[in-house]
Amino acid sequence: MPRRTKIVATIGPASSTPEVLEKMILAGMDVARLNFSHGTDEDHLARAELIRRIAKKLGRTVGILGDLQGPKIRVGKFKDQRITLQPHAEFILDADCQLGDETRVGLDYKALPQDVKAGDALLLDDGKIELTVIQVVGNQVFTKVVQGGVLSNNKGINRRGGGLTAPALTDKDIQDIHLAARLKVDYLAVSFPRSGDDMDYARRLLKEAGWEAQIQAKIERAEAIDALEDIIRASDSIMVARGDLAVEVGDAVVPALQKRMIRLARQMNRTIITATQMMESMISSPVPTRAEVSDVANAVLDGTDAVMLSAESAAGQFPVEAIAAMARVCNEAEKEAMPEVTILDNDPIDRVEKAVARAVIHTTRHLQVKAIAALTQSGTTALLVSRSDMDVPIFALTPNESTQRRVTLFRGVYPLDFQHENRSSAEVIAMAEQKLLALGAVSVGDIILLTIGEPIGIPGGTNTLKIIRVGEHSHLT
Ligand code: PEP
Repeated sequence: MPRRTKIVATIGPASSTPEVLEKMILAGMDVARLNFSHGTDEDHLARAELIRRIAKKLGRTVGILGDLQGPKIRVGKFKDQRITLQPHAEFILDADCQLGDETRVGLDYKALPQDVKAGDALLLDDGKIELTVIQVVGNQVFTKVVQGGVLSNNKGINRRGGGLTAPALTDKDIQDIHLAARLKVDYLAVSFPRSGDDMDYARRLLKEAGWEAQIQAKIERAEAIDALEDIIRASDSIMVARGDLAVEVGDAVVPALQKRMIRLARQMNRTIITATQMMESMISSPVPTRAEVSDVANAVLDGTDAVMLSAESAAGQFPVEAIAAMARVCNEAEKEAMPEVTILDNDPIDRVEKAVARAVIHTTRHLQVKAIAALTQSGTTALLVSRSDMDVPIFALTPNESTQRRVTLFRGVYPLDFQHENRSSAEVIAMAEQKLLALGAVSVGDIILLTIGEPIGIPGGTNTLKIIRVGEHSHLT
């Protein structure tokens, strides 16, 4: 049984050569994340081209996720690149300051002074430094240092409890959506969305730029938790973006939120990536800590579709080892049954594909099914079936390359290139059977479930489930 949980790896300076990328794909990278917070358009275009070329050479399918920077609020630059803030010192966040020093620093988001008030806790550099707001005068926020430390150029600022009003899509994001269209990304991740409207807007902009992809909401603002259902409904996928989320809501709240988000997204037939610091020590160590192993395994048991590497693969010393370690941990965790997190039985059957998917799940629970073959244009049936985590591989057989790349993120779903133009239903079914036999996924005598839209060749959704005994050339009755 192949690994069901997928691995997303962020690409960066440590992972941009053909040699390393090839090893990363062979070690198990399913989706490559291009982080638009770093690098030039040319870097991203070259990397996407390289990844797709190497994947093709290896006969693998690798999805590409473009991740928008979003309105991450940052301090400006310092004269000497960095300062050290001492506890109890006074420090000014000054929207008019050009180059900072020990007393003040500039802001990239000029409206911050209007968003904060005396008593607010501001967390800098992912919470490593904490300031309390004393008062706001014009464009200056006067603060006192609670937790000191080294503060260097362009570090992020969050307010505990959230509530900063910067819009979800900045001018840079709008430009990067055009880059995403040029890259033909399979997933577009939107940072810091506050509502479903933010997601609708991103989807519309990508469409206007000439491309359609799965739109993913990074849940990393306190407000996003209140609007979770609305955001998920407007998205195809979510990311549990634990880095910023922990700063806004407090680190201790995140593990329970992770479980809630995964459960809700699965119930709503959406996919989920669990992200940030999963193998953090592997930035400089060839092996993970026990706690990291448990973190990855627990995300698998929570029901995540994918686990993600950030700095570990983008800038660390062991990108290939980090992927291999994740793969090993996922494989092992998957042997333990995942708690039933779907409410499929309560999910209304309001579409024909859903009825077929439910029939597949029901049949798999009762017959000794070896594999599920979903003949699909969009991957929807494979997605719906995969919301119930079963110990049976789901093959998405599709002629559509973009669908092949999209399903790389779906838990337990594997893409197979399947060209069947001008073939009859009977021929297509026989070809699908042969494909799984050739792959070694099934043997003669095994039962496979096959979903298909009939009559074949007429555009429309999946409407048929066939139960097939491999090699018998007749469908079971
Ligand atoms: C996060 O905050 O956890 C995250 C994934 O966002 P980014 O790495 O883009 O800051």
